[in-house]
Amino acid sequence: MTQSNFNFSPGPSLLPEAVKKKAKQAMWDWYVSGISPMEVSHRSPKFVALVSENEQRIRSLYGIDESYLVVFMPGGATMQTYAWCANLLRTDECADFAITGHWSKIAYQEALRNNAKHHQAFAGEANGYTSISDCSTWKCSSMSRFLHFVDNETVHGIEFTTPPTATGKILISDMSSNILSRPCNISSYGLIYAGMQKNMGIAGLTLVVVKKELLSQYPSYAPSLLSYQYCYDKNNLPNTPPTISHYILSLYLDWFLELGGLSAADEQCKKKSAMLYQAIDNSNGFYKNSIEKPFRSRINVTFSTPTPELDAQFASFAKDCGIHFIKGHASHGGLRASIYNAMPEEGVEALIECMNKFKQRASL
Ligand code: PMP
Repeated sequence: MTQSNFNFSPGPSLLPEAVKKKAKQAMWDWYVSGISPMEVSHRSPKFVALVSENEQRIRSLYGIDESYLVVFMPGGATMQTYAWCANLLRTDECADFAITGHWSKIAYQEALRNNAKHHQAFAGEANGYTSISDCSTWKCSSMSRFLHFVDNETVHGIEFTTPPTATGKILISDMSSNILSRPCNISSYGLIYAGMQKNMGIAGLTLVVVKKELLSQYPSYAPSLLSYQYCYDKNNLPNTPPTISHYILSLYLDWFLELGGLSAADEQCKKKSAMLYQAIDNSNGFYKNSIEKPFRSRINVTFSTPTPELDAQFASFAKDCGIHFIKGHASHGGLRASIYNAMPEEGVEALIECMNKFKQRASL
């Protein structure tokens, strides 16, 4: 059967069909017949083994050795804007931030709530978040050891091509929207984090990979549940977790490994995004993407029509064509196609066909 509806949501977003089918089956038959993964104790050996296997599989995908902790934390990526500072920064220590779009600005603003001395090493707002200058020209603070950046800005559709290592700072990266989309040398980073609801499964958990030796004295006033060491020492089960999110992660990893892993995902992301950018660039200016070409996201393709009214009409036309959640983020406007790993090429082709039809209609 040819699929007729495609989900371009930025997150929570589409799941691979195979994952949904297996999850449906597991609702009736997982622990034993009649008992699903949502209905078992998180202390049951089968569930504990599942969480541990998820950790091992993430370690082996990225080649993460024992000098890093792999932590699964509830609370979403937003919680990490506080947690990484609490776990890594020393008392009153400030950090550098690269502001390349919506989420890096939020991470900076959240961090400022605890220390007004945090510093913007790169501020992309002046150019509308359309490009990222060479990081060797950034103005880092001599006081900071760490640099926080968002590898792929989900709202603006701007992505780093390589990590900003030339700053000489220890890198802290939010990879919420491009985790599992390309190979990544974890040893170049102090910490990465990623909410799971985009390219790793469903909402409820955030993956954190952190270099052990960077952990500082965890503040006595901060909650144990946000301490990386505490969660890890409790085998990532310090309290009742969203069990279904762990389970879906395990199904997602099954599917992802069958897909071919990180390099295969990278190839597919490049191919699918290139198809879309080509359609935009070949539209004689009807569709526009404002991001400088090297930084165009392989995951969240932002674009617009000549007017906001036409953008709205496009979103409604697209829905009738089976193209869902194509509207841009409320703070940014325009349109956005989120093409995570689970988006088949067929979905991108359907979107392009819809774009061409809409352009023809609007030009009449
Ligand atoms: N960082 C990035 C890059 C995101 O895309 C998002 C969510 N869209 C967040 C952080 C915030 O994630 P959450 O809602 O899970 O806290």
